[in-house]
Amino acid sequence: MSRSEVNLIHRVEVVETQRLTDGMLRVVFGGAGLDGFVSSGTGDEYLRLFLPERGHDEPRLPVPVGDASWEFPTGVEPCEMRTYTVRAWNGSAGRLTIDFVVHEGGIAAAWALGARPGHVAGVNTPRGLYAPPSGIAWQLLVADATGLPAALRLAEQAPAGVRTRVVLEVAGPWDEQRIELPPHVELTWVHGGNGNGPTRIEEIVRASEFPAGPGYVWVAGETRATRGVRRFLRHELRLPPTAYKVVGYWTENAELWAERYDALPDAVRARLRDMWSEDRDAEELEDEYEETLAAHGL
Ligand SMILES: Cc1cc2nc3c(=O)[nH]c(=O)nc-3n(C[C@H](O)[C@H](O)[C@H](O)COP(=O)(O)OP(=O)(O)OC[C@H]3O[C@@H](n4cnc5c(N)ncnc54)[C@H](O)[C@@H]3O)c2cc1C
Repeated sequence: MSRSEVNLIHRVEVVETQRLTDGMLRVVFGGAGLDGFVSSGTGDEYLRLFLPERGHDEPRLPVPVGDASWEFPTGVEPCEMRTYTVRAWNGSAGRLTIDFVVHEGGIAAAWALGARPGHVAGVNTPRGLYAPPSGIAWQLLVADATGLPAALRLAEQAPAGVRTRVVLEVAGPWDEQRIELPPHVELTWVHGGNGNGPTRIEEIVRASEFPAGPGYVWVAGETRATRGVRRFLRHELRLPPTAYKVVGYWTENAELWAERYDALPDAVRARLRDMWSEDRDAEELEDEYEETLAAHGL
């Protein structure tokens, strides 16, 4: 069966948890519900994690629709859901590993902190975003703590012959992970950001060496920081869209952001919602979306 034909929702059970660092908690899932789980194998593949309501054991799960989507049946109120990376998938053991950033005020972060063997959640079929052109000679992977699970998995899988530089921004030395990486991967830790201070993600990318020859830049972090990174790569370095993937993984002060978004004039919100159905270049649409948000202080 090809990857595109697989679109499933899985009920998963916590098998074990492990505190990796002060700021990161690992949860390993298993259970019969993972039968048929298909990993794309892409290092940054992500999924939706469906969570039970506080005080309830089971999450209300959606049902798959078509090749790639899902929905909650009529009359079923959607459960809380968040996006997470598949840090590891062990198909023979039926084990799915997700690494959670531990932070204040998060529904998923709080759920992970309280997770115990036997606790139940749901996940959908994951998909990846990392898609370098063939024949690259180098790659640059930059992320904050939310992108760390994806960046490390990408680094572990970095093809021999592709010079790989990884820069990870974590809150402090206490959040650095000891990890074995292939010899052609160079890993640098920097400290800050992650909701505890200004992030240096954009500065890191701007100061990075872009070796000659075909390469790829992959960046994940806070959305306003990644916006600056994308602008730099696309509009200052003028890289083609195939040469980079820049993804906003979380929004600092998300509640304030949502409040401001809701207060935008109706016409602006309608434009931001409807523009995606236009038959235009995806990167141009992204430019307009980002510029509109920035112009409104979002
Ligand atoms: C493709 C993709 C892959 C991702 N993979 C991972 C992953 O593997 N591990 C991971 O931990 N996260 C990952 N994230 C980010 C994660 O989805 C968000 O951080 C999410 O908001 C966490 O949900 P929550 O319920 O804990 O917090 P929310 O309820 O969404 O937010 C509550 C408050 O916490 C703040 N907040 C949210 N995230 C953080 C944070 N990381 N640090 C500080 N404050 C925060 C918000 O601004 C808000 O004020 C990924 C995101 C994407 C888009």
